[in-house]
Amino acid sequence: MGRAPPLPFFQRGFSCSVLGGMEPHRNPPTALVLDFDGVICDSVEECFVSSWTAYHILFRKEPAAEAPPAARHAFSRLRPFIRTGEDFVVIQDIIARGDAVSDQKGFDAAARRASADTRRLFRDLFYQARTTLLERDRQAWLGLNRIYPHMAAAFARMPRGAPVWILSTKKPRFVAEVLAANGISVREGHILASEDEPKLSAVEGLREREGFPGAILVEDQIDAIKGNTNPRIRVFLATWGYVKEEWLEEPAAVPLLKPEGFLELVEAEFAR
Ligand SMILES: [Mg+2]
Repeated sequence: MGRAPPLPFFQRGFSCSVLGGMEPHRNPPTALVLDFDGVICDSVEECFVSSWTAYHILFRKEPAAEAPPAARHAFSRLRPFIRTGEDFVVIQDIIARGDAVSDQKGFDAAARRASADTRRLFRDLFYQARTTLLERDRQAWLGLNRIYPHMAAAFARMPRGAPVWILSTKKPRFVAEVLAANGISVREGHILASEDEPKLSAVEGLREREGFPGAILVEDQIDAIKGNTNPRIRVFLATWGYVKEEWLEEPAAVPLLKPEGFLELVEAEFAR
């Protein structure tokens, strides 16, 4: 992918508080690790439709019906608490029961209410619903997975072969589908499934394996990054993702990254 001309803000120098007035640096090389949902892709619509189908049609065997707008609203409100694929079906369970869940602790308690077998079933049904949607109408499915415009712009500015990895709980097959449909290419083997390993540990493993002195992890699930004590990993919370207002209040528990800050970071790391 060719590099577009420098962005106007880059010509003006850095203004982003995240970078603290740092000069662009080319060395040492850094591995950039990005979460997918809520960092690269706005997938809340697709996750709603897949989990609604998984819970109501496949799990509870209810007749197909239009989802009420209130359910969509409640789903968006609970989306920041998601940790794994089956949690999307847990959200539908919370909504159907009318549970009052307003924080991560409450969400995790609701998620634990399901047995290990039920959680496995939720996961299987969620992916079954997603696969069916994709295979039935690929364009419609892709339309429910929107790349954030500033992320599309950032990928367009990265040189070919940039050391970028995507680390997601989503199956790599689905990540690859969305990226390919949007003309975004990442190197072979750079879409990784985080599965049960904590993301910070997965990033450290990747950094060591690939021989990078440092790594950057951009996430929108605060719990995945707020305990970072590894000096070789810089973490950022993507303010544009599925975040709660309170996560963004100053002083923030983790460094915040705004869309313009991400573009500056890409310029600083990868500009040639
Ligand atoms: Mg995310």
